[in-house]
Amino acid sequence: MIISQLIQVLEDWAPRWAAQKNDNVGLQIGSPQRRVTKVLIALEITPAVIDEALARKAELIVTHHPLLFRPSSSVISTDPIGKLIIKLIENRIAVYSAHTNLDFSRDGVSFALANKLGLQHIRFLAPLKETLAKIVVFVPEDYVESVRNAMSDAGAGLIGEYSRCSFVSRGTGSFKGSKYASPFIGGTEAEERAEELRLEMAAPRASVDRILSAMKDVHPYEEPAYDVYETITPQRNFGMGALGELSSPQLFKNFLKTIKHVLHAGVLRYVGDPKSRVQRIPVCGGAGSDLLPEAIRAQAEVLVTADVRYHTFHAAAGTISLVDAGHWETEHSILRIIADRLQQAAGQASTAVRIFITEQSTNPIHNL
Ligand SMILES: [Zn+2]
Repeated sequence: MIISQLIQVLEDWAPRWAAQKNDNVGLQIGSPQRRVTKVLIALEITPAVIDEALARKAELIVTHHPLLFRPSSSVISTDPIGKLIIKLIENRIAVYSAHTNLDFSRDGVSFALANKLGLQHIRFLAPLKETLAKIVVFVPEDYVESVRNAMSDAGAGLIGEYSRCSFVSRGTGSFKGSKYASPFIGGTEAEERAEELRLEMAAPRASVDRILSAMKDVHPYEEPAYDVYETITPQRNFGMGALGELSSPQLFKNFLKTIKHVLHAGVLRYVGDPKSRVQRIPVCGGAGSDLLPEAIRAQAEVLVTADVRYHTFHAAAGTISLVDAGHWETEHSILRIIADRLQQAAGQASTAVRIFITEQSTNPIHNL
């Protein structure tokens, strides 16, 4: 397999366009055409992770946290990040990062955490209200299938669990070509009428250019007529945090013990009555305290996340229980999911690819 094939597997799951605007995701170092036989998965790049990649002869490291996050003006060995970049390039190790796009994807970071905590019926806590586009194209009837297929293949027509969704209505188009035109129907400099179908499909905004270009490739008209509208339809394929339920209500103090045990959390910071019962539980891997209002709206008993500030604990106290289980601790369950997805895809390839999860704890925080 080559790197770009593994990237395709990751991006079919967590597309780059789903990342937050100021994020930096995708291939950060390396050539997409390079052959891969071993891949190392880690939450982030540290000197120990690079050493492990070298020892395992891995050609690619897949991380959650991007190595290159802010724009750099130089790559020099006296800078800690520069030193890592130089070592990776010198050893021809590629780096690919799936960050907020993986946070916002189904079966991403928060879903992995919810699963780890034994929650059921897992769904998004706050589905992303991404601004979708609606593409409307006017097509002669004989071509509607090929245009619909081309647009679907380019990413149009995704609504929740359904793909290739479209709507077609019938009407009459009119046009008059100039003497330089070469119309598909009728002659030049004469007003024509044509029976046309109005084909409409929803599309992620980031894919609009690709979809329009695919549509134009198969549309028979010299100048296809089309419109692109913005909508505010909530996008149910992506969202923040995950919401699930325990199979039966549990004492909060017992659930705290479960969190500590399954996440290998050295310490839990929390507010809430240990003798209360919890069942409906939203979680967010990494820094998710902004989801506190959503958790309250969901009538949940406890929000599990990380990087919680003192005043956020105050805001929760008395209304909802809140647990800070640590950033690394709430995110590391995703490594197994990434590894399984890649291994499954690699298993179908003719050449063997081995996927490893790093043995290094990249958590920089120690608990006394
Ligand atoms: Zn994180």
